[in-house]
Amino acid sequence: MRVGGGEGGTVRIARAAVPWSPHRGLRPPGCRMRRARRWSRLSLDDEIPWELRINAGRPKAYRIDCVGDVIGSKAMRSEELAALAGDIKPVDLGPVHHRARDEVVRLGKATGKEYGVAVFVDGRILSFGGDHENRIDVPPFDAPPGSVTIHHNHPSGDSFSRADLRVLLERPDLGRIDAHGHEGLWASCERVGGSLTKQNAILAVEDAASQARSLIAKKLGRHELAEEVARASLWQVVMSLLLERQGVLRYALNAESIILLARQVLK
Ligand SMILES: [Zn+2]
Repeated sequence: MRVGGGEGGTVRIARAAVPWSPHRGLRPPGCRMRRARRWSRLSLDDEIPWELRINAGRPKAYRIDCVGDVIGSKAMRSEELAALAGDIKPVDLGPVHHRARDEVVRLGKATGKEYGVAVFVDGRILSFGGDHENRIDVPPFDAPPGSVTIHHNHPSGDSFSRADLRVLLERPDLGRIDAHGHEGLWASCERVGGSLTKQNAILAVEDAASQARSLIAKKLGRHELAEEVARASLWQVVMSLLLERQGVLRYALNAESIILLARQVLK
């Protein structure tokens, strides 16, 4: 990841090195960002334009050591980190929910794709998904508000994605979403109160996501967080905790060490 030559160029956020933050003024020597970008909005594969400052001296190649790399990287999963710490606790969700969990994890392990099972209040279940590796389309259900629980597997072993949280906040029929990693990680979100408009759901989640990334970037910049930890998609846990703080959902994760790390980021 280098930018060189007299005219500058673009860098692609692609891999991690040491923490770096434009907020702290640690930019590639002789370079400035061509246009202002909100730091917390940087993510994997973003192209960031840079140019050499006038009178910056001879052209050099610069290594961009960017926190965005670190938090965008998928080198280690929350589930792997929790497993390494021996910190994945079994949870008792009840027989119907266990059936749903076992089904999505079994299918997910067999194909590497995401599967979903909806559990209705009367105990009926309905299976769907299996079309994509990293997302799932939740069909609409004719059910009372807040009454449907969705179980789905996360082949990635991460906590909730932004899309998961948006769907939960926006869809009146849904009350809870559970995500299951293939090695036992379990995350659960329950909506508090009624559903939000699509626009407000997007705003709430995008705000929490960008705040979470920015908080992690700050911790990394101060060397208060190990890189391998920041890489473990910790921002996704922080994002859910931020939404919990706002009172729109309740969040649970069966890995205490990950929750503690996320709470440290929030301090
Ligand atoms: Zn998901």
